[in-house]
Amino acid sequence: MSNQATAPRPARPRPKRGEGQWALGYSEPLNANEQSKKDDNPLNVEARIRNIYSKRGFDSIDPADLRGRFRWMGLYTQRAPGFDGGKTATLEPHELDDRYFMMRVRSDGALLGPAQLRTLGGISTDFARNTADITDRQNIQYHWIDIENVPEIWSRLEAVGLSTLEACGDSPRGFLGSPVAGVAKDEIIDATPALAEIKRRYIGKPEYANLPRKFKTSASGHPSLDGAPEINDVSFVGIDHPEHGPGFDLWVGGGLSTNPMLAQKLGVWIALEDVADVWEGVISIFRDYGYRRLRSRARLKFLVADWGVEKFREVLESEYLHRALPDAESPGVAEHSGDHIGVHEQKDGRFYIGAAPTVGRIDGDVLTGLGDLVEAYGADGVRLTSYQKLVVLGVDADKVEDVVATLDRIGLAARPSQWRRSTMACTGIEFCKLAIVDTKQRAHDLVAELERRFPDLDTPISINVNGCPNACARTQIADIGLKGQLVMDGDGNQVEGFQVHLGGGIGLISSLGKKLRAHKVTSAGLDDYVTDVVSAYLQHREDGESFAA
Ligand code: SF4
Repeated sequence: MSNQATAPRPARPRPKRGEGQWALGYSEPLNANEQSKKDDNPLNVEARIRNIYSKRGFDSIDPADLRGRFRWMGLYTQRAPGFDGGKTATLEPHELDDRYFMMRVRSDGALLGPAQLRTLGGISTDFARNTADITDRQNIQYHWIDIENVPEIWSRLEAVGLSTLEACGDSPRGFLGSPVAGVAKDEIIDATPALAEIKRRYIGKPEYANLPRKFKTSASGHPSLDGAPEINDVSFVGIDHPEHGPGFDLWVGGGLSTNPMLAQKLGVWIALEDVADVWEGVISIFRDYGYRRLRSRARLKFLVADWGVEKFREVLESEYLHRALPDAESPGVAEHSGDHIGVHEQKDGRFYIGAAPTVGRIDGDVLTGLGDLVEAYGADGVRLTSYQKLVVLGVDADKVEDVVATLDRIGLAARPSQWRRSTMACTGIEFCKLAIVDTKQRAHDLVAELERRFPDLDTPISINVNGCPNACARTQIADIGLKGQLVMDGDGNQVEGFQVHLGGGIGLISSLGKKLRAHKVTSAGLDDYVTDVVSAYLQHREDGESFAA
């Protein structure tokens, strides 16, 4: 036997599997989602909903549209009632399809006047069984929508300049803006015109409707970082440049879910009128270089993590903008809380009033009531916040207390408890097909119990309640972040519960909470668990020490 026959062969470099990046020549779809988007531009589903499905009913809907392209029009099937977490453990999400839809209406940080608020309220009462949630992306989310009613709902929304277009799907979803844009005394720059321009130029355009996955945008010039820039794919963050004046830094690649990453700061200066061009550059990088092989790696954060900010900036400048951006110092953490709850004087001497429902849950009557309030008191309108709250803007000094009292009468607290102020919850098992546990009602009950147990809490402690690992209500950036999962109770039974993350935050601090493997709590035991954690904090804190410090 010769040496040649027995000698080990030199290892051949294994061909590297591509990530499906279009810019590198991977134009063939590598998974079913990519195939579906290639088969038909998802925006085409609008015409089919208008002309076919709404006329022929639910059973006429092509499954590829129902479970895929409907999202581009802000529509998901909601979870059929009667399934709890335990029963659904072995079922695929589509097996839980109800015949009704969740519908998201994007506000894009815009001011909602009386006509818009009453329209939103009327849709809720006429078509959505009086449901309406304020989401942490400044959307209004309805449930129980029947496909037959969708064109009428769209007509009513269009009449007041609102839309569900690209509110979901692998598309540029609803934008976050500052709720106090244009009125806050300490605002660095008003980003509202830039958001309006991005919407005008790019939303609903086929060139930006087939992205690797969702693409989240934030633009705010308020020093409280009230647009949650740390957790968006692209964020424009107000800065005052010593040479160029007010403008924006660019942060990219933020996102939570199962691989959380806070956005990376480029340290550049962008003029207000250039924001839309730069936004187009960033979304184009995502479209062209974003990973499309695996859905779990298809967010911009994975590309940013692999490239680093230097390469990202270089590609943005050389391939897309064809010019260099001036250097700038990136902002650090926020100067103060950005939830805008309470009564605050505006730069014009009038006031804005931030008010809290509990965990974002309102209804059509509240929306209509807000429209009446804005008109009756001559206020400017309402903006939604990225904390599932809202702000009434432009209230005259002599009307402030009347507005606060009226808000209170419709269930919105301008002077809420710390618990109501700082708790959020995602949709959860009531309507979401991916949910493992109940969230909205559980969080509502938790807030009520904590108000009873700690009525005089003197510092905010944020609690974010999520129904599964997807972290739609931001598990990893709360003082107490809760991720829904099945856990063992004391008798060895699998029951609804939560994995706990502690010490996260954005704005005033910027850190991901620590997942404490040993801290798993049953849903039934949540009140006592939070009580123990908060009691320990209150007992051991040093002067001025926050919960997350
Ligand atoms: Fe649904 Fe999970 Fe998102 Fe909650 S976190 S809304 S349960 S996908």
